[in-house]
Amino acid sequence: MSPDPKTTKKAKELFESGSVNKLDNDTFQVKSLTDSETSYDVVGKKCNCKGFKYFYVQHKGLDPTCSHLEAVKLFKDSQGIN
Ligand SMILES: [Zn+2]
Repeated sequence: MSPDPKTTKKAKELFESGSVNKLDNDTFQVKSLTDSETSYDVVGKKCNCKGFKYFYVQHKGLDPTCSHLEAVKLFKDSQGIN
């Protein structure tokens, strides 16, 4: 699974702006960069945003991902969580 450069860039922005909040090892809350009232829940390998839900439309056969999920990965890497 390799997200497109746009997703990777946004994930990095989310991570670096401190938008990722850890609730527990499998549950994270990621704040939207554009709307501070909005946040997304990343649980395990799933996110509840539209980008994740409709990922398959443009990327048939690939594991779904989104900038939030990728931001959580960066966060986990930085914390040494797998
Ligand atoms: Zn998402």
